[in-house]
Amino acid sequence: MTTAVIGAGAAGCVCAYYLLKEGESVTIFDYASPLKTLLPTGGGRCNLAHAEYDFKELTKNYPRGEKFLYSVFSKFSTYDTITLFEELGVKTYVQEDGRIFPESNSSKLVAEAILSKIKNAAFIKEKVSNIISLSNGYKIKTSDAEYFFDNIIIATGGFSKTAQIKGIKNKITEIKPALVGLNSNCKGLSGIVIKDVFSKDCKITDDLLFTHFGIS
Ligand SMILES: Cc1cc2nc3c(=O)[nH]c(=O)nc-3n(C[C@H](O)[C@H](O)[C@H](O)COP(=O)(O)OP(=O)(O)OC[C@H]3O[C@@H](n4cnc5c(N)ncnc54)[C@H](O)[C@@H]3O)c2cc1C
Repeated sequence: MTTAVIGAGAAGCVCAYYLLKEGESVTIFDYASPLKTLLPTGGGRCNLAHAEYDFKELTKNYPRGEKFLYSVFSKFSTYDTITLFEELGVKTYVQEDGRIFPESNSSKLVAEAILSKIKNAAFIKEKVSNIISLSNGYKIKTSDAEYFFDNIIIATGGFSKTAQIKGIKNKITEIKPALVGLNSNCKGLSGIVIKDVFSKDCKITDDLLFTHFGIS
């Protein structure tokens, strides 16, 4: 069976990893470099998971996705996530607050570990614009060409990107503000860290890091 994975973010690349393990033929499409979106995660350290092993408790931390994630985490738990990173050769540690990070504290090295395990997938650096369902599979159109696959997996991240692909009939839920990198031109502050910043509204405490592009 041939499978196209559209989007080479964390979801698409990990999906490709499991498909390759099953002996599938995998082609990944992305107009950007694979795992580019992984690099700024966790302030460059990549927060891999949280040390909550009871999936029912874990879902309580996702106010909008609790129901959906209940079924997801019951099938793929925190244990499975740790096992995955062990298979990838990424050693992990648990921070005092329960967050799990790679021992290297480097999202770049996590990305390299994943990419080294999906070398057998074909990578096409093109933007998918249209998906057409056929009786015997799918036709994918990009700005440059057309391709045919038995199966497709859409892993294009958020609404703004996914909505640009024609032919997707999935229901897209109402969008809400979420985690984003903040761009600013305060380049002179790059490298400064303010420890333990508390947000009264979000009820979170974390470090604030000024980077070359803004605030992380
Ligand atoms: C500042 C910041 C820090 C974060 N830190 C963490 C953290 O520490 N731990 C954590 O778990 N999560 C973190 N996140 C969240 C995490 O980054 C996302 O949940 C994750 O990237 C989602 O992965 P994804 O593969 O679903 O989508 P994305 O990472 O968005 O990947 C989607 C990919 O699809 C490609 N694409 C889109 N449309 C098309 C198209 N038409 N054709 C071809 N390719 C297409 C995009 O170029 C992209 O590469 C953080 C997010 C931000 C913004």
